[in-house]
Amino acid sequence: MPTPTEAMTAALSARPPTPWTLAVAQFEAGADLLRLDSSMRELLRSPKRILTVSIPVKLDDGRIQAFEGYRVQHNVARGPAKGGIRYHPDVTIEEVKALAAWMTWKCAVVNIPYGGGKGGVICNPKEMSPGEIERLTRRYASEISIIIGPEKDIPAPDVYTDSQVMAWIMDTYSMTVGYSTLGVVTGKPIAVGGSEGRGEATARGCQFTLREAARMRSISIEGARVAVQGFGNAGAHLARMLSDDDHAKVVAVSDSRGGVYNTAGLDVKAVSHFKKETGSVVGFPGTDRITNAELLEIPCDILVPAALENQLTGENAGRVKAKLIAEAANGPTTLEADAILREKGVLCVPDILANAGGVTVSYFEWVQGLQAFFWDEPTIVRQLERIMVRAYNDVYQTAEKHNVDLRMGALVLAIGRVAEATRIRGVFP
Ligand code: NAD
Repeated sequence: MPTPTEAMTAALSARPPTPWTLAVAQFEAGADLLRLDSSMRELLRSPKRILTVSIPVKLDDGRIQAFEGYRVQHNVARGPAKGGIRYHPDVTIEEVKALAAWMTWKCAVVNIPYGGGKGGVICNPKEMSPGEIERLTRRYASEISIIIGPEKDIPAPDVYTDSQVMAWIMDTYSMTVGYSTLGVVTGKPIAVGGSEGRGEATARGCQFTLREAARMRSISIEGARVAVQGFGNAGAHLARMLSDDDHAKVVAVSDSRGGVYNTAGLDVKAVSHFKKETGSVVGFPGTDRITNAELLEIPCDILVPAALENQLTGENAGRVKAKLIAEAANGPTTLEADAILREKGVLCVPDILANAGGVTVSYFEWVQGLQAFFWDEPTIVRQLERIMVRAYNDVYQTAEKHNVDLRMGALVLAIGRVAEATRIRGVFP
């Protein structure tokens, strides 16, 4: 009898994996462990709603370009759909569907009353002016306004979207319905109903789960060598927090242009400042230049993938030196890599747990907006820590019960919760 992970690997080797085939294979493996029947699998596997939109945008040179965008609602059994919007040239519907499914499981892992959704637009914001990005955002928001809303589906930032983009979506939606609607998006600027602590929330949540994992493995974060791939919202904040709060030694960081490495450790604040000035971490004085691929394999104790999917693969996982991996990014590890890392005894805190701090503080932002009553930052951080530590322990206990790794433990916990909600609600009509 193959283990769930072996069955999943066999299913995937039959065809080239896309993020969606990975998400489905993960789901089936979790459903096997839970012994879900075929009806429940049908209900939980596929996205509930997929919207594809064509977004005409007047460019600065007067031409009109039609961009393709998506909004996918994977599941709403436990509450409104929740999930970010990604602007990237490599966005595909397969990717958005997978990211939406992972949001369903992520919200269930931290036990907040949301389902899962995700949006994406195929574009390269690095080649667009702020005006073009604003017009793209407003038209995309208008096109998807038929399915989003504070009680229906609440977008947030993801790769190459930020609080300004969220403010434009909030304004566009508000103009459509005729009144200011704070609860339609999260990750907004504080001045228009954003939450204290939202900008750092993904990193802060990741830090809390890393501390739990390190404690469990008797690894000291103090003095540990850390490598972070992706020096953006998630990665840069986490590098700073691990360095400032936990006294870890951040030895390498990277962005889309490449990475920098110094065995003696980097001054993370200075690297952030340098990136703001120059657009990249590459060239930071006193460092060796490395590629993104090299960063994953450098000598370190803790590795944090915080960029895109499919970074740790069957090809490079065997050369990973870290003892602990925290997936700040969504889907950075392929199944083959997972098996290799497990074999090597590397403890991997999976994405749907490690990066759930972002959606958790998004939930706080939504609650604050609906109540028109805002909390201070210490309250946010305290509540986030409570939820992340509880989620880590729930996942750990589920993994122990089923004798599986943390990734499968998180999936089983999440799928079980969504299945329970679905069973209790029943099927309409
Ligand atoms: P971001 O746009 O702020 O940063 C992304 C970073 O990755 C940038 O520094 C970019 O230069 C770098 N990058 C892009 N392509 C790269 C490549 N090929 N190799 C290495 N680096 C590359 O995005 P973010 O919000 O920090 O998101 C990063 C990851 O974290 C994504 O997988 C996202 O889904 C996940 N995530 C983000 C949040 C959040 O709240 N921001 C929450 C949960 C998960």
